Amino acid sequence: MKIAIFNVHNWERDYLQNANNGKHSLKMLDTYLSLDTVDLAKGCDAICIFTEDNASAPILDRLHELGVQYVALRSAGFNNIDVPHAKKLGIRMARVPEYSPYAIAEFTVGIMLALNRKLVRTHYRIMEMNFSLNGLVGFDMNGKTVGIIGTGKIGRVVAKILHGFGCKLLLYDIVEDKSLVEKYDATYTDLDALCQQSDIITLHAPLNEKTHHLIDADRISKMKKGVMLINAGRGGLVNTQDVINGLKSGQIGYFGMDVYEEEKGLYFEDHSDDILQDDAMARLMTLRNVLISSHQAFLTDTALENISQITFDNLECMEKGNACKNEIK
Ligand code: NAD
Repeated sequence: MKIAIFNVHNWERDYLQNANNGKHSLKMLDTYLSLDTVDLAKGCDAICIFTEDNASAPILDRLHELGVQYVALRSAGFNNIDVPHAKKLGIRMARVPEYSPYAIAEFTVGIMLALNRKLVRTHYRIMEMNFSLNGLVGFDMNGKTVGIIGTGKIGRVVAKILHGFGCKLLLYDIVEDKSLVEKYDATYTDLDALCQQSDIITLHAPLNEKTHHLIDADRISKMKKGVMLINAGRGGLVNTQDVINGLKSGQIGYFGMDVYEEEKGLYFEDHSDDILQDDAMARLMTLRNVLISSHQAFLTDTALENISQITFDNLECMEKGNACKNEIK
């Protein structure tokens, strides 16, 4: 197959090449898929895209005209592709539903520890030859109550790790996993009770109409004063302006933010020569109790190996005309 891979980042290039192992002809592109760039797929049987590529109806129409038959997403989410339209055109699509829940869960707990023990501040302080401990008091994780919203593949690994820390776990999900209750001595509860009782709240639900701005001013007002809020789910799970207000009033004591509502066009790129236009981001960057990362939670070698391998397995499955377990229906 000839495969056009859009939006290839430096950190994934080698993993894609290794997984392909010379089998297919790869056209590695560093541009996003859009109406302006779609013709780069000319002569290809398949394209491979990431979360920020645009596979809307007009782009799919052009891909169809160019003879592209398969779209492989190197991500779990597929909100960037018009699925019914692709199906109408007979274009088969597949995704990577799971590549390493451990990568995201471990990063999530890493954010909690870094915020709690003020590791970034410590490091910068020592680089300035300031070895004082003033302002660096943290808290024991042992015995704290952590609320986990969304107890799917990632949320349940977070539960496992935090159970090991001796945390008390409150869980909220629309589908309850009773095994977590027994294994980790956890309790499923409603969202309000979780907000009221948790010292730390971490978000692992998908973004959809029901979860959009799940954390807003009303929910924040119900939380314990000084709560730690972690979002390594999707930016839109929180109302960013309400979180900023919560941070300014002290209602939120710590905020860990791996994902951001307005991350498109900002995250994954070097903007060090640009003037930051995003005022909410600029405000968040001024707060010492906020830790920002650029949608990095998934970024481990295991995850990248799995994403690349599963992507090529999906494409080969579809090319052979076989049923593909990761096909987007
Ligand atoms: P999953 O599908 O295994 O689990 C999601 C859980 O959320 C399910 O148990 C589901 O029942 C629950 N849920 C759905 N709607 C809900 C609602 N309204 N309220 C509460 N719970 C609800 O998914 P996962 O693999 O655990 O991933 C969770 C999310 O993490 C993904 O949707 C994605 O947005 C995010 N994610 C982030 C990164 C990153 O790098 N930061 C990487 C991968 C995934």
